[in-house]
Amino acid sequence: MSEPSPISAGGRPRVRVLHLYDRYLNIYADRGNMQVLTARGAWRGIDVEVRGLEPGEHFTPGEHDLIYVGGGQDRDQQMIAERMSEDLGPAIKAAVEEGTALLAVCGGYQLLGSHYLDTTGVHQPGVGLFDLSTEAGDGRLIGNVAIEAELPAIGARAASTTTIAGFENHAGRTSLGASARPLGSVLHGNGNDGRSGFEGCRLHHAIGTYLHGPLLPRNPELADWLLAAALAHAHGTDAALLIDQVGTVPPAVAALERRALDTSVARARAERG
Ligand code: GLN
Repeated sequence: MSEPSPISAGGRPRVRVLHLYDRYLNIYADRGNMQVLTARGAWRGIDVEVRGLEPGEHFTPGEHDLIYVGGGQDRDQQMIAERMSEDLGPAIKAAVEEGTALLAVCGGYQLLGSHYLDTTGVHQPGVGLFDLSTEAGDGRLIGNVAIEAELPAIGARAASTTTIAGFENHAGRTSLGASARPLGSVLHGNGNDGRSGFEGCRLHHAIGTYLHGPLLPRNPELADWLLAAALAHAHGTDAALLIDQVGTVPPAVAALERRALDTSVARARAERG
């Protein structure tokens, strides 16, 4: 892939997003996460440019500011797991090390660990970005989830502790290794394995999570954190502040987002206790 400039032709800040295997990993409308990033960028005068990557294609670390991997059924994951770990593993790890932001959801999250032993007994190789492994257990973990997560500071942009909510549906039980840091702790629901109280994983500016929904429409704080991290990668750490300083989300949209999050949390509390 040729390297696109971080600045748009019109001089606007640009964020370059790479959506891995978008035709294979996209359940629960996970693609909607890309629409949220694009819209929230546009409201701030930031061009969010999303391009997909097909199996067999490669990318160069540093050429994108944010990498996204969606969720999939076991059979969808089987089609791409080997390709992803062999073709993209070193590039994904190098990109996250040099500050590229990343979001991986459910099946995509599992494939960023060491491996996933799926419901059919197939060993799906992982990329090894996160220190975690996943094995299918008895029965699926299904329902609304709410977690408390720590979103770290990005340059001068302050850290925050925030409630994130979504919907989980996974057979996999994910165990974090000794060096892994969870994204958050479960308030209501199962999270990584239904036992540990942990949900997701975080490394530098990379986040893996089981939360679908899609995730970002009901979690605008997380969406903005990802955009801030991507801006910092594209334009230097001071640019992370742009997301809070320039333009505004239309009040009617912000109110809907608030209601969506509150409703998800209330459902998670009612369903899961
Ligand atoms: N196939 C995986 C599992 O069942 C992930 C499912 C998903 O992405 N929702 O655990």
